[in-house]
Amino acid sequence: MDFTVLTLFPEMFSALLVGGIIKRAVESRRISIEAIDIRDFATDRHGIVDDRPYGGGCGMVMKPEPLAGAIRHAKKRHPEAYTLMLTPQGRLFDQALARELPGYAGLILICGRYEGVDERISQDLVDGELSIGDYVLTGGELAAMVVIDAVTRLIPGALGGEQSAEEDSFSTGLLEYPQYTRPRSFEGVHVPDVLLSGDHGAISRWRRQASLIRTLLKRPDLLLGQPLRPGDMEFLEKLRQHIETIIEKHSTAS
Ligand code: SAM
Repeated sequence: MDFTVLTLFPEMFSALLVGGIIKRAVESRRISIEAIDIRDFATDRHGIVDDRPYGGGCGMVMKPEPLAGAIRHAKKRHPEAYTLMLTPQGRLFDQALARELPGYAGLILICGRYEGVDERISQDLVDGELSIGDYVLTGGELAAMVVIDAVTRLIPGALGGEQSAEEDSFSTGLLEYPQYTRPRSFEGVHVPDVLLSGDHGAISRWRRQASLIRTLLKRPDLLLGQPLRPGDMEFLEKLRQHIETIIEKHSTAS
């Protein structure tokens, strides 16, 4: 997948190449990352890319001409790419969307700054708008990096072992089960025996049940919007009986 980022701060994207999975994915040509400086498309000789908002108000707005030039340049190089504007007003980025995006040959990610981007850019030159959360950043660069990171790890081969992405939180619709590594005992806390048993069926059941409990405690909303597997209902029913017994016992005692 080719990521093309349109930004006023292209140098920020060298941070992605410092190490780890993204660097490896670039080296193995699974992805490419090109950061294009929007200022190179300024239409005046001073390289001006922003201007005051019509109607008054504080802050500056990114002018449409340099952005339009940068987008058209990127689209010419990557005609199959999907063009996304990073904005807090966009569709919320989640794992489901991260899984959709590797279906495109390329992504053109537009990073705003200041008070945002002239509205006519989103109307005419962009396929979609994307937000990484309900908060406001100073610019779209960190959001673009989040998208590049989350999408890259879903590209076949990028992680080295496909299993790790399949079992991640949200990929199964649940949060991932707890993970342990050596030593067996750390500051008096032991690794659950089942993980040392070598019984893969028992390990897989324990992990599924741990995922269900974790999701129930931390993100019960996820359990509502997601089909459960055979065996899950039985386990949740057992949990409910335990909880009811405990509540009953304590309410009759008090
Ligand atoms: N005035 C805009 C508003 O209220 O919608 C916010 C502009 S913000 C200060 C500047 C730029 O940061 C935006 O154009 C966008 O590219 C980026 N940005 C800020 N928050 C973001 C978020 N949650 N997700 C994606 N991009 C964001």
